[in-house]
Amino acid sequence: MADVASIFGASGPLARTIANFEQRPDQAKMARLVWEAIQTKRHLIVEAGTGIGKSLAYLVPVIASGKGAIISTKTKTLQEQLVNHDLPLLRKASGTHFTAVCLKGRANYLCLKRFRDFSTRPLFVFPHEIKYFRKIQNWATRTATGDRAELSQLPDRLAMWHDICSQRDLCTGQKCEFFSDCFVSKAREAADKAGIVIINHYLFFANLALQLSSDTSMLPQRNLLIFDEAHNVEDVASQFMGASVGLGHINDLVNQISRQIELEKIEVEGLVSALTKVQKAGSEFFSHFAARRDGTFKLTNEMFDMHVLDGRDELLKQLKGLARLLSDAASDGIDVFGPLSERCLEMGNSVRDVCDLDNQELVHWAEARDGHVQLKATPICLADTLAKHVFAKVPTVILTSATLSSDNSFKYIKSRLGASRPLELMLPPSFDYKTQALLYIPRHLPLPDNPRFVNMAAKEIVRILQKTRGKAFVLCTSISNMNALHELVSTKIKQRCFLQGEMPNTALLKEFRRDVSSVLFATASFWQGVDVQGEALSCVIIDKLPFAVPSDPIIEARIERIRSQNGNPFYELQVPQAIIALKQG
Ligand code: SF4
Repeated sequence: MADVASIFGASGPLARTIANFEQRPDQAKMARLVWEAIQTKRHLIVEAGTGIGKSLAYLVPVIASGKGAIISTKTKTLQEQLVNHDLPLLRKASGTHFTAVCLKGRANYLCLKRFRDFSTRPLFVFPHEIKYFRKIQNWATRTATGDRAELSQLPDRLAMWHDICSQRDLCTGQKCEFFSDCFVSKAREAADKAGIVIINHYLFFANLALQLSSDTSMLPQRNLLIFDEAHNVEDVASQFMGASVGLGHINDLVNQISRQIELEKIEVEGLVSALTKVQKAGSEFFSHFAARRDGTFKLTNEMFDMHVLDGRDELLKQLKGLARLLSDAASDGIDVFGPLSERCLEMGNSVRDVCDLDNQELVHWAEARDGHVQLKATPICLADTLAKHVFAKVPTVILTSATLSSDNSFKYIKSRLGASRPLELMLPPSFDYKTQALLYIPRHLPLPDNPRFVNMAAKEIVRILQKTRGKAFVLCTSISNMNALHELVSTKIKQRCFLQGEMPNTALLKEFRRDVSSVLFATASFWQGVDVQGEALSCVIIDKLPFAVPSDPIIEARIERIRSQNGNPFYELQVPQAIIALKQG
């Protein structure tokens, strides 16, 4: 293989294919190191600033190596860019034949069996969804993939989709009458055969959790794994590597079983009463936590008095009884009850985990919203798990993002993710910020915890927006600041002011791009993965440094853990985390 970097040269295949191709030495440098990591079976961390073209810099050596790879991204936007733009472009430029597919979580695919069942007796929680059902019926007859992304008009939140998409605990696999046409199995088969498989971090870690609990995997084995947008890996992994359970999960389980009983006209002695008992035990157990205010709070031993522990034991007993009934019925030929029985047992395990406050590796906490509460157990540190089950298992793992370093070092990200002795490369953004951008820090404002801060910041924001004539994001670190600043500023400027939450995020972005002079007030979800090109986004205003809230139970537990190891959590966790978040913003 000739020097892989020559592909990026002035007379290389990319220059011959891409109109106005721009040679970027850093892009070639990154490609060379990715190639080296693949050949020498080393891990690699690359911070590639904006504008370098990092996706081509890893795709070219992956394709040139001829080795299979899994590429995981956090956002749909990047996934779509890889599938619809970068890979077709490289196919054209290289003239090489390679296969690449996008594999999504099973809930993205239509389940033919559930769709047939639903169509027989449609039940709409929201009557306005009937119009979408007609669209889906029409689409279902011609789709080759069953991927809901093909239906761009479908709203992100569609209650009905929950009744017709594929679900692990309602899928009987090869025993299903639709198995030969099943979209999920077709997608997995295609992924098994493909050279490059594009997934997202959610699917990767949901799969890892499944692998660790049941030794089964939905993903093909590959010796090369690339995490793009790798600064999000710890957050996403934390969501899947612990446990989470609430009354909503219990009710959902009971409803799924009841629906099967109704659809299949199943009669199993004692089943209906077992469902009632599970629901009753669930309501009683979770009612002990429901009175607390909205937000997150840490679970403490004092919260688990005798009543609560009795409630937990009763719930576990009823879940176990239900699991046994379902598993017996499955052995008698009611196949769909097999996976549902498994789900009862898994739910029992989750209840046990969230109540096991003696497990020092997990932080036990709860999230209350609108009177509903979910109990959670989240790993305090994932480094050992990832080191053992990801970095030690896959010969080459590449972590890349525009923001991975803090203080010119990868120490933070390596320690959080358990990546030991990787190759490292830090490439600055290709933009000349000194001449192309202006950084303004108003020094006359009081500190953010001062009661006058919001009013004074609003006045300053109005002044800035009058100069830029809108065209800005105002990114806030809390919902209360976002609402207050929006209220104070929107009445003082001529430009249209959008507020996060007033419509779905994708629609909001579309409107923001369309109305070039508009201003968008937003929080966390707009800090990253958002692409607005051109004049519409000429200014970004940040209300304060994005330090994570120290009273957040996960952050608090991580701070305590570092302190107990004689470390300094401010410099080892809070500052690096804030720097990375700020760079994203
Ligand atoms: S195999 Fe599973 S996902 Fe596929 S159609 Fe049947 S039940 Fe649905």
